Amino acid sequence: MPKSCRVNEACIGCGLCEGTCPALFELVDGVARCKVDEVPDDLVADAEDAAANCPAQAIEVE
Ligand code: SF4
Repeated sequence: MPKSCRVNEACIGCGLCEGTCPALFELVDGVARCKVDEVPDDLVADAEDAAANCPAQAIEVE
């Protein structure tokens, strides 16, 4: 099963995820969004790192 990625409403718009993984995340109107519905295999580790490092625990990778 491919991993999905989403940013929930807890995001505080700090920009960390976009800065560390611009292939997956972008800030739009002050909050992050995940640019893909399915995370490519080679970016799963980056997505999981971003989720672990998010100060608001707003990134859900599952
Ligand atoms: Fe939002 Fe977390 Fe990304 Fe910061 S790291 S912009 S809080 S999703």
